[in-house]
Amino acid sequence: MSTVIPIRAETSAPTAGCTDVVPLVERGQREVFCGLTGIIWMHRKIQDAFFLVVGSRTCAHLIQSAAGVMIFAEPRFGTAIIDERDLAGLADVHEELDRVVGQLLARRPDIRLLFLVGSCPSEVIKLDLSRAAERQNQIHHPKVRVLNYSGSGIETTFTQGEDACLAAMVPTLPASTDTAPALMVVGTLADVVEDQMRSLFERMGLQVNFFPPRNSQAMPVVGPNTRYLLAQPFLADTARALQSRGAQHLAAPFPLGVEGTTAWLQAAATEFGVAPDVFEQATAAPRQRADKALATQRQMLQGQRIFFFPDSQLEIPLARFVQRELGMDLVEVGTPYLHRQHMAAELALLPTGTRISEGQDVDLQLDRCIADAPDLVVCGLGLANPLEAQGITTKWAIELVFTPIQGYEQAADLAGLFSRPLKRRLKLAA
Ligand code: SF4
Repeated sequence: MSTVIPIRAETSAPTAGCTDVVPLVERGQREVFCGLTGIIWMHRKIQDAFFLVVGSRTCAHLIQSAAGVMIFAEPRFGTAIIDERDLAGLADVHEELDRVVGQLLARRPDIRLLFLVGSCPSEVIKLDLSRAAERQNQIHHPKVRVLNYSGSGIETTFTQGEDACLAAMVPTLPASTDTAPALMVVGTLADVVEDQMRSLFERMGLQVNFFPPRNSQAMPVVGPNTRYLLAQPFLADTARALQSRGAQHLAAPFPLGVEGTTAWLQAAATEFGVAPDVFEQATAAPRQRADKALATQRQMLQGQRIFFFPDSQLEIPLARFVQRELGMDLVEVGTPYLHRQHMAAELALLPTGTRISEGQDVDLQLDRCIADAPDLVVCGLGLANPLEAQGITTKWAIELVFTPIQGYEQAADLAGLFSRPLKRRLKLAA
């Protein structure tokens, strides 16, 4: 059984933990969603953007069923279907795409930012969407900006869709002319979470910009004075693009749970010279509320054994949260990719000897999981049913991405996502 060590900002000196971990690296068959999935949360965030997937009927079905059909509202995503004639090279796909974009923009004057989103089929026929975006910009800019990125599922995992989308936007961010350091939070957060974070920073006397913004006309400026905190752990390309614009990363754990949120806020507070008493005043009340709310969840989860399949790239921060704040035991923590630099603060907080795996060979991993018989498995939808059929309780990883889970006010909700399936299992067994 694990021990919960409540950490406060001023005492959060990390131990070595898993800093030097050698992960179990697997490169076999994988069971993950593709990057188109990111459209589901991105289209809700940037409210004047439209995501036009250039793909197949399968792609259309995926986002339509995952996002829910918006019958009575004007949707902010759609699919330009590549059909057999395009695949056979019988039609000029560029011409067809220009026609679809022209129709869309004529019908939807509210669109100010259009993403052409690549898919497996567009990659297979080597459709050059950057050329298409350039051509469209010549016609529609400045009224509409057209960008492109790939959401293809070939060799990627589903949260990379957001990474590719944000990375595509970075070169278009206005250049900062200020020299005074400015704070930017990077990664899509639900509006309610963003408002809470903004309020916490303001209580510390800090102004903050969020990227992506809620409106494409309010893009944050970027430059060598930008100091950025990552709100999501899957933004390697975006981070690289920001750094190429001179921005500097503030290393921190991710804002999941009380400990993660405190350390994340503390990284900005330290960088901007916020006095310890000001930090304490700003964070004490929500921290105490979250601690109290977590205590109930901990009773249910303490000592339960959890296994993470690699899916969202949130696995390592989640594992740190459930182990340190809820007392769960980590059986295996799988991650699609291990970004050592972005994960350094998280790895340091995991118990030494934690089994961390990178990549996937799904059959081998399933064998390990079944042999280990954990109490709870976090995995993709495709694995959940077979595991449930074996009597293993599961939680869909994708729910952890769709649900607002960051920050103090959401800490107990996040814990609830782990306790609910166990409660359901108990009820079914009763
Ligand atoms: S992008 Fe690829 S993996 Fe995703 S729905 Fe389309 S065909 Fe399927």
